Amino acid sequence: MSKAATETKTATITEATRQFVGTPRAMLIDGEWVQAMSGRTLPVFDPANGEQLATVPAGAAGDVDRAVAAARRAFESPDWRKFRPVDRERLLLRLADEVEAHGDELAEIECLDNGKSLALARRVDLKNTVEFLRYIAGWATKIEGATVDVSFPRPRDGEYFAYTRKEPVGVVGAIIPWNFPLMMAAWKIGPALATGCTVVLKPAEETPLTALRLGELLLKVGCPKGVVNIVTGIGAEAGAALAAHPGIDKIAFTGSTEVGKLVGHAAMDNMTRASLELGGKSPVIVLDDADPAAVIGGAASAIFFNQGQVCTAGSRLYVQKKLFDQVVGGIADSAEKMKLGSGLDPTTQIAPLVSERQRDRVWSYIEAGKAQGARAVAGATRPDNTGYFVRPTVFVDAENSMRIVQEEIFGPVLVAMPFDDLDEIARKANDTPYGLGASIWSRDLSKVHRLIPKIKAGTVWVNCHNLIDPALPFGGYKQSGIGREMGRSVIDLYTENKSVCMAV
Ligand code: NAD
Repeated sequence: MSKAATETKTATITEATRQFVGTPRAMLIDGEWVQAMSGRTLPVFDPANGEQLATVPAGAAGDVDRAVAAARRAFESPDWRKFRPVDRERLLLRLADEVEAHGDELAEIECLDNGKSLALARRVDLKNTVEFLRYIAGWATKIEGATVDVSFPRPRDGEYFAYTRKEPVGVVGAIIPWNFPLMMAAWKIGPALATGCTVVLKPAEETPLTALRLGELLLKVGCPKGVVNIVTGIGAEAGAALAAHPGIDKIAFTGSTEVGKLVGHAAMDNMTRASLELGGKSPVIVLDDADPAAVIGGAASAIFFNQGQVCTAGSRLYVQKKLFDQVVGGIADSAEKMKLGSGLDPTTQIAPLVSERQRDRVWSYIEAGKAQGARAVAGATRPDNTGYFVRPTVFVDAENSMRIVQEEIFGPVLVAMPFDDLDEIARKANDTPYGLGASIWSRDLSKVHRLIPKIKAGTVWVNCHNLIDPALPFGGYKQSGIGREMGRSVIDLYTENKSVCMAV
């Protein structure tokens, strides 16, 4: 990587990053970097100033066809078949090493493309991507079936030998969102390669750049052509074509519940296996014996981390009455003090949202909150910065029926509500269509243990929030999705179970 660097007002971006971002990009199909068949391109914008940052191909149905055909050929090719589990493990470990070695550059690209803070991109996105790739690499050599004692009447002079084997599901279509672009790409490509599948990945149109750089690194570490294909394009064209493609065996989707349902329907028409990681409206439940200082810091970070653009963001805060004023006052104070700025500024605490559309969407929820009678105790005013900024906002005086309490906002907007009765809190916490995450803050373990089984959420944190580990299954109840990524569970999503019975 070039050591030459360009000074910005706030941080130093390497020339290598500038060049990667500034050169019109191609997409990866069958080991080649290609433009869209139509020749069309998509602009990518810098969320900190709204200016065009990069250009990528506007892939559509024809490009998806080419990519799926390449992935199918690769799946059946001797080149990929001859990769033993240990070879797939090494491939993923080499990829993790390359991602780590290019960590600064990838974090810079992510910061410019998504708007998020460079420090956060390094500390969270890059660290998690590398750790996840290393974790999932280990699974390649640990995929196993079982022998089964069956009870059929014995054949004469013989017996039965029955066993199960796990086989790669085949060609995987992966559609990912814009909030953690590189990490999401790794969460899909990692298990696909570990299990011996091949992939067509469609990154979000807002943030396609780190996936394309990852494609370069995949080729560098020896990933055979066609095993990973990356098609850039908008959701309604490239995404919809991929989800409905009869040539894929599985679709892995992360994004909104609304689009997840479309993807799920399209998959069902072809009986394509589908895993869906969708939206959330995660409650943060604070019991009156909790440590208020820990709750204030923890609940603020649960909602404001990554500007609230997190599927498990703690967007509903339920505080038992005794602590309500202290906790909400503390969070509102810290929200008011948070510094808005470019992700390149190391002192920034709230970076821009990903896009103009997302900023306007979040703002429309703030307006809806006010119109429905909620009262803002922090934020809720428009900043005058040119980028896609929203001030961290805290609402009180809200009812569970309000839109700001029911719907996923995906921005730095918290709604705080008091509660009295411990028996009632699980019902309130469960009173949305979602069920992705929840946290309980308390020092009374017996109360915590009684509450956990009542909460309908894929993950319940206690005295912490938003902690995701490669070993811990992750996914949603209710409209937050279907399937569990991470841990052993993700291997099941990318494999078929075959039963074998032999008369011997
Ligand atoms: P989205 O669901 O529209 O986009 C996610 C991915 O799906 C992108 O790659 C997009 O191109 C693709 N897509 C869009 N329409 C498609 C279609 N018809 N068929 C197939 N693929 C399609 O999310 P968004 O527009 O980026 O954001 C809208 C809302 O989604 C956000 O405000 C937030 O509430 C939610 N969201 C949730 C997550 C999450 O991790 N749970 C992530 C991003 C967004």
